[in-house]
Amino acid sequence: MTFNPSKIQPAIWSRLASIVHKNKIGSAYLFSGPEGSGKEAVALAFAAMLNCNAKGDTSCGSCASCIRFTSLQDEKLTLMFPLPGSEKKDSNASDPLKGLSKDEAAYLLSAIESKAHDPFFQIRVPRARQILINQIRELRRTVYLKSMSDGRKCVLLFQAHTLGKGIAASANALLKVLEEPPPNTTFILVTDYPAQLPLTIVSRCQNIAFPPMNGETIGSALAEKGIEESTSRLCIHLSDGNMHRALNLAAQPSEELLSQIRDFVRTIMKEDSGTWKSFSQEFGRMSRFSPEEYKLRIALVQKWFHEAYIARTGAGNGNNFSEFSEDISKFNQRYPNADLKGIHTVLDNIVQAPDKNLYMPLAITNMLLDVRSHLIDSS
Ligand SMILES: [Zn+2]
Repeated sequence: MTFNPSKIQPAIWSRLASIVHKNKIGSAYLFSGPEGSGKEAVALAFAAMLNCNAKGDTSCGSCASCIRFTSLQDEKLTLMFPLPGSEKKDSNASDPLKGLSKDEAAYLLSAIESKAHDPFFQIRVPRARQILINQIRELRRTVYLKSMSDGRKCVLLFQAHTLGKGIAASANALLKVLEEPPPNTTFILVTDYPAQLPLTIVSRCQNIAFPPMNGETIGSALAEKGIEESTSRLCIHLSDGNMHRALNLAAQPSEELLSQIRDFVRTIMKEDSGTWKSFSQEFGRMSRFSPEEYKLRIALVQKWFHEAYIARTGAGNGNNFSEFSEDISKFNQRYPNADLKGIHTVLDNIVQAPDKNLYMPLAITNMLLDVRSHLIDSS
């Protein structure tokens, strides 16, 4: 996939380009910002630019270095992301890749290839929860060695907040590396959740804060994939500037999408023990086996309630979600005092619930009860 980082995040890119031109390249950056704002894609493009032979405003894409970087095959480029395994210190297997099953190893190979073709592809190894201490140990063994070619080594850590999980052993190990930065090396920590990183790490990095991607940029990415305009308009609206979500939405028929949202909202409204039970089980399974789908479905329902809030307060232009305007106006008539902000918080919490090791079917039933209790607000 050819893509131009100066188009997807223009302000960020001009800042990065000026860092390169002034030759003030730092040893550690933190790319933070909402999901789907192009952080990983821009990090890959920045790594390529740092090593491009042409020295233009972006990487040229055609010199020998750029070709190796865009195929993610340069020995100076290290990609790190969560792998399956435990955080415990014992593990004799110093090579973290040895802990992978055959299927996981095969997934990893194809995922890296997908990432090379599409910088918006998300690498998600099954069972992986964090960047492991062994991965950082392995990095420490190799990152101080002299590289075989000229140029700058780039270490990209995706989902970097997972370094801070548990007792933060991985974060502490990385901190030692950041405190003695290897020569001619740039670390880029990429995360949606910078607040989950220890401050000691954050303070070692220059923070580059990404805004959500604008609708026009998402629209042209969808157009490039041949998505028709009416679908594209709906996806842009539902995506909230999140490129991953927009691509994900565009991959399924709009009708199906709309009926999923409608069913979810109806399930909440209609307190029926049989429906609630099967709903809780379905979403419990989804949270485990398709966590991305789970997050997306809840986000869309949040969006629905957000639109109900906009319709009620008269903020915004009001015609954003025409597919649901009838449902929403009925809802607002029936529940004029519903605590919509409270509902938003309840849904936020259920998105995070799988990370907290709760028994999900029960957590989901409680979520339904909670939302209902906010419908009739006594205040
Ligand atoms: Zn180049």
